[in-house]
Amino acid sequence: MRIIETIRELKDVVRKQKSEGKSIGLVPTMGYLHEGHLSLIKMSAAENDFTVVSVFVNPTQFGPNEDFERYPRDLDGDSRKAESAGADVVFAPSVAEMYPDGYNTYVEVFGITEKLCGKSRPGHLRGVCTVVAKLFNIVEADRAYFGQKDAQQAAVVKKMARELNMNIDIVVCPIVREADGLAMSSRNVYLSSPERESALVLSKTLKSVEEIFKKGERNAAALRRFMLENIRKESLAEVDYAEVVHPETFEDLDMIEDKALVALAVKFGKTRLIDNVILEV
Ligand code: AMP
Repeated sequence: MRIIETIRELKDVVRKQKSEGKSIGLVPTMGYLHEGHLSLIKMSAAENDFTVVSVFVNPTQFGPNEDFERYPRDLDGDSRKAESAGADVVFAPSVAEMYPDGYNTYVEVFGITEKLCGKSRPGHLRGVCTVVAKLFNIVEADRAYFGQKDAQQAAVVKKMARELNMNIDIVVCPIVREADGLAMSSRNVYLSSPERESALVLSKTLKSVEEIFKKGERNAAALRRFMLENIRKESLAEVDYAEVVHPETFEDLDMIEDKALVALAVKFGKTRLIDNVILEV
């Protein structure tokens, strides 16, 4: 498996594969890979002849007071893991390679970015769309793989690809969890052991919401209230949002008629974690 740091070299390698009729899969990541990322790489390797995994901590998707500088990085470990999951190339560009001096072009999806993480983290989804659009243009993949863990990101990327007529299929893969239910995240390493214990409140709350929904509760406000009460019992947890929205438009729901996305963002100390579940009647 090759590690490539320049756009020009990656384009040459991918074009050679395409000229031989090979299909290309792309898995965009910020690295510090865990089983959630590896599930996307395995899916790409199963569905494509050649898989490119990008490892790039993208500065444009971090706010000024967020964790860009201290975000965990481990390119050697990532390369080993990506290779064992079936990657053919790890693309690990520098910030200057992706955003040379004077860079000033951004891609923004409106509407559905005004809720949830888009609302709490202004500019975040614009940074995500910009880097993903650049990666799509650099790699010219047939398919790109995203996790349902970042449900809004996946929906926004799908909308961008559709509305900008990008020739790529977006595949969304299920959330991979630790044995105790915590959704895997590179940011979990930030948690102290009491915070790690408290963080279970996310998946536990979503499980309880699923049970209440199965028993017939369809009122979104009642589910929101339940989530807030449940999470506030954890002294280390600080709720950013606990929402019940339409899974495509992200509009707030009153009653759940067919489908809903239940999405949580909760801070434990400085660490903000997200998780979600889809409810279906
Ligand atoms: P990140 O490196 O956190 O930007 O994530 C890169 C990709 O991996 C995104 O599409 C995420 O949604 C996906 N991902 C992250 N964590 C998980 C998880 N626990 N299960 C499935 N996919 C995940």
